[in-house]
Amino acid sequence: MADKKIKLSDNVPGSYYVDVKCIACHLCVQIAPNNFKMKNGYAYVYKQPENEEERNSCEDAVMICPVEAIGNDG
Ligand code: SF4
Repeated sequence: MADKKIKLSDNVPGSYYVDVKCIACHLCVQIAPNNFKMKNGYAYVYKQPENEEERNSCEDAVMICPVEAIGNDG
């Protein structure tokens, strides 16, 4: 489970975030390219979802992250 107490400072404010456990596997960026971007060695949320399609993609990213680094309670 992701932990908002250790979320990366690059995340924009809002529900979704990536925490420091990210291992830069790129899966979230592939699944939700409108919302996640890679930076030097990690992913972060650069835009919160604004419609149902983006919300669904972000939820898919939460589920597929291999290290549970994505949260939706931020
Ligand atoms: S899916 Fe998880 S581990 Fe992979 S880049 Fe995204 S946040 Fe990082």
